[in-house]
Amino acid sequence: MAEEMQINPQRAKQLVENLTHITQRIQSANKRSEPIRLIAVSKLKPATDILALHQPPLQHAHFGENYVQELLQKASLLPRSIRWHFIGALQSNKCKMLAEQIPNLWCVSSVDSVKKADALEKGRAAFVARLAAEHTIGEPAKSADSGEGRDAVVEAVLRIMVQVNTSGEESKSGVEPSDALALCEHIRTSCPHLQLTGLMTIGAIARSQATTPGNENEDFVTLKNTRDQIVKELGMLGGELELSMGMSADFEGAIAMGSDEVRVGSDIFGERPPKKDTMVVEKG
Ligand SMILES: *Cc1c(COP(=O)(O)O)cnc(C)c1O
Repeated sequence: MAEEMQINPQRAKQLVENLTHITQRIQSANKRSEPIRLIAVSKLKPATDILALHQPPLQHAHFGENYVQELLQKASLLPRSIRWHFIGALQSNKCKMLAEQIPNLWCVSSVDSVKKADALEKGRAAFVARLAAEHTIGEPAKSADSGEGRDAVVEAVLRIMVQVNTSGEESKSGVEPSDALALCEHIRTSCPHLQLTGLMTIGAIARSQATTPGNENEDFVTLKNTRDQIVKELGMLGGELELSMGMSADFEGAIAMGSDEVRVGSDIFGERPPKKDTMVVEKG
């Protein structure tokens, strides 16, 4: 249990400093009035690192994970008040389990096929049916992003972002920009337990490295244009479909391009170990 986890105070102090610094950089890059959501990407890092940021003084709420098994394990160990984001490459056969077994799963950001959307819908429907049977269903959180609401609120609807492959790299998941509209429409019309909230992209790192003021990352431009077109085609309101773009190497550039959510891992937690060496609970 969380109470029994031993957090190294030195490590906790370092993590708090790192996240505070990232928050300051986000604030100075943000020229709009709406705050930008920071997902602390904790994949391959121990549960104690997450707890160190989730407990006072920061009480950071949003954490991102890439592997279903690792997320299931962390979610069972850590407080329900954490808002989990699944941001990794999704496998169809794990979608139902993901949507069904993690009550505080906040968003799945990497949906790139109708098949995966349907499997998530099925899992969330099963989750809701179980909750209804237990009469434990709660009201959806009103202040979605204050990060203040410490109470664990169980929500019926699962937020979904469609991942778009803006860079055209074969190694990257995501739908082609031209296929994003059809998938968004499917989620809105055929998946009542899912709520389409945005588009996500990773983008080519080389393009971010070449980014200078006045020379925008074209992958971020592509995501923004794709979003604007979908909002128009589906008759959505401006602001209803968020952009999740920007990581450690390029989040300031992404914010300048209108990102609503950045996903930062290594600049907060340091370099990641190889996957085979991962320990959710550290030994000794
Ligand atoms: C790992 C990962 C991140 C964080 O990357 P960093 O470069 O460590 O900040 C962000 N988004 C996705 C989809 C990831 O897989």
